[in-house]
Amino acid sequence: MTNHQWVERSDRVIMKTYGRYPIVPVRGEGCRLWDADGKEYLDFLAGVAVNNLGHCHPKVVQAIQEQAARLIHCSNYYQIPQQIELAELLCAHSFADRVFFCNSGAEANEAAIKLARKYSRDTKGAERFEIITATDSFHGRTLATVSATGQEKIQRFFDPLLHGFTHVPFNDVAAIEAAIRPTTCAVMLEPIQGEGGVNVPDAAYLPAVRELCDRHGLLLILDEVQTGIGRTGTLFAHEQFGITPDIMTLAKALAGGAPIGAMLAREEVAAAFVPGTHGSTFGGNPLMTAAAIATLRTILEEGLLNRTEEIGEYLLGELDTLGKNYSFVREVRGIGLMIGMALTIPAGDIVKKGHERGLLLNVTHDTVLRFVPPLVVTKQEINRMIELLDGIFAEVAV
Ligand code: PMP
Repeated sequence: MTNHQWVERSDRVIMKTYGRYPIVPVRGEGCRLWDADGKEYLDFLAGVAVNNLGHCHPKVVQAIQEQAARLIHCSNYYQIPQQIELAELLCAHSFADRVFFCNSGAEANEAAIKLARKYSRDTKGAERFEIITATDSFHGRTLATVSATGQEKIQRFFDPLLHGFTHVPFNDVAAIEAAIRPTTCAVMLEPIQGEGGVNVPDAAYLPAVRELCDRHGLLLILDEVQTGIGRTGTLFAHEQFGITPDIMTLAKALAGGAPIGAMLAREEVAAAFVPGTHGSTFGGNPLMTAAAIATLRTILEEGLLNRTEEIGEYLLGELDTLGKNYSFVREVRGIGLMIGMALTIPAGDIVKKGHERGLLLNVTHDTVLRFVPPLVVTKQEINRMIELLDGIFAEVAV
């Protein structure tokens, strides 16, 4: 079967939820992907910040294979050892004391919203339920997370949305303070906005929000679904800003490409969930948690965090140098290997030309090229990408 044949079949049976490019990946290894026609791609998207260890990392593959032969799923009994071990690992490397496992970023954020409301109800009175979130934020596609998301294009068509979300501009502490009401229970933010255009806040923003939350008795929920698991050069992006949240959500890269979500909290906050308040059939299932343990151990034990910081600086520098030669490049920004290149022109055409040349990139917020390669990306691969991009930019510039 060729790409073209698969695309035709797909268009008949798959719901058209995403605008898709006509590439059908069938195999991956490290920073490389191959499509059904056998064409090779250099992958600077990594499943949108999912394949942090590269595609099919041997340790993740082995963990999944071994676990699949032992036990794939079991629910309702006491937690399986893999889930407990993963929770211990996450707590040992974060501010958190307890973890709830689910299957996606949206589901982790749903759990965070429910926990924040229940905690506030239990400890501060029933009238505290509102959550302040940011304009241009992205928190998922379920109704509660669409309601939390600060993008009209995501919310359109789905009214009535969930009541109780107030959106304020990102990177603006005064705007949060002005939005606080007696009914507010939490502030929910991405440390760096991903789908909103790779927006990096000022260094003082998150510390000031933390202080504001403490002063007003609000919970700080950080959505680290895209920024977490080493993407920025620390295990979690909030470490870059010297603060800790009360609740944090993870998904994407946590299990090296296997579907998992997690919601972490401090003991006092986590105590609001008691038997019967929340759940998930597949959440924390043996296969995914085994994959996640292998992923986390590899990231922590193979020095990938320091490497990400270093290689991220190299990529940022190379992109910056390239951008100086083209008047349509407005800004290059990012931390670690989460980098955006803001253009003054729509980026869709550049992405398409990249695909023709065997380079996978994507565009976020219409005009921002997003670079989120596997953390194992090499300098040679970066140099090759820059070379390809330079060729594309030269074509677009004329
Ligand atoms: N939060 C953030 C910050 C995200 O980037 C995403 C996915 N792009 C989500 C939540 C939703 O995750 P999922 O697609 O796994 O539901």
